[in-house]
Amino acid sequence: KINSSEEAIKLEDQHGAHNYHPLPAVLSRGEGVHVWDVEGNKYYDFLSAYSAVNQGHCHPKIVNALHEQASKLALTSRAFHNDILGAYEQYATEYFGFDKLLPMNTGAEAVETAIKIARKWAYEKKGVKETEAQIIVCENNFHGRTTTIISFSNDEGARKNFGPYTPGFIKINYDDPEALEKAIASNPNVAGFLVEPIQGEAGVYTPSDDYMRRAKEICEKNNVLFMADEIQTGIARTGGLLAVCGHCTCENHCERQPETYTKPDILILGKALSGGNYPVSAVLADNEIMEVIQPGQHGSTFGGNPVAAAVAVAALDVVKDENLIQNARKLGNLFRRLLDDYIRESNIVELVRGRGLLNAIVINDSEDSSTAWDICMALKENGLLAKPTHGNIIRFAPPLVMTEEQLRDCVDIIIKTLKQF
Ligand code: PLP
Repeated sequence: KINSSEEAIKLEDQHGAHNYHPLPAVLSRGEGVHVWDVEGNKYYDFLSAYSAVNQGHCHPKIVNALHEQASKLALTSRAFHNDILGAYEQYATEYFGFDKLLPMNTGAEAVETAIKIARKWAYEKKGVKETEAQIIVCENNFHGRTTTIISFSNDEGARKNFGPYTPGFIKINYDDPEALEKAIASNPNVAGFLVEPIQGEAGVYTPSDDYMRRAKEICEKNNVLFMADEIQTGIARTGGLLAVCGHCTCENHCERQPETYTKPDILILGKALSGGNYPVSAVLADNEIMEVIQPGQHGSTFGGNPVAAAVAVAALDVVKDENLIQNARKLGNLFRRLLDDYIRESNIVELVRGRGLLNAIVINDSEDSSTAWDICMALKENGLLAKPTHGNIIRFAPPLVMTEEQLRDCVDIIIKTLKQF
């Protein structure tokens, strides 16, 4: 039994690999928008496990689904069928508007799956010569940590000394449709364009409103698959079911409107697909794409297990039942308005950006200064947990079940803290 934060941190330090640098908060309980540390201090969670806990910590409906299914049947592998996977696949494909779903566990696995599908589609449907397929990706992307994915990362920390790297990727500038058009025109072997609708890890870098729509048009015109990585942005986080859907700031949820809905050819989901209660990820596509994967060609022991399926259905239910899309949109607009008002008279914050409840502030200091980290330490002292993304950028992504009163309280904490700097 752990008695203090200090003791827990020491154990991790001594016995765990040093592949993370967490803020020194040792959490032992969570409920809704709050978490508590070992000493009993209460915090607002303003990261939501990188947007996995959109439905709030330990949501009773999701926890109940997990308990019930875990005590009935937890794992069969895909050697046999189970009685819940099909119902989950039907629910999720209707929910997001696709023919088929391929279940995996983590985000990086789902991205790997999407890359495999796109390459196989290029050879079998587009007629690209085997081993020549290329996938276009963006500068400053983040799609996970596997060997193939870090092969096309710009982050030297994530890449250096992990080579040899996987070939077959072309990097272009983000938010630059002309660069996409040029890259496709100069290479007949392009299978797909893999993109984050908002670059979360890069610092919630939010592109032009029409970027997704234009990118999709270019892909469609050139028979290239438009592959949206919505692992961080999807499932209500940015005030739409998906961030790729189109940018609308009105406070009523307009269902996917044909004129704004940009449907990806391959949709990649993870994180909030389980509300953070279990590792659940998925790749969705229509039949003509998904049918390139046949028995034995791809899979995972845990992918699509009964607990994952039950948890995902409950997690998606909560998003609808509790109007999380509308809430993220409404509170996101309020959050940016309140912070913008403050920033006008502040020297420490350059700007606030984001969509829905995926936001970031850029601190007015050099990239390698410790100011953003120091601000996060002070936020912790004041009862709110957030983490710098890159250098001088702090991401703000609370659970979407937050109330307006709680959000206003959080903004007060943030402004009070920033005034200390
Ligand atoms: N893609 C995006 C956009 C992400 O934000 C993340 C995680 O932060 C991943 C992929 C990788 O997901 P996971 O950590 O579950 O492998």
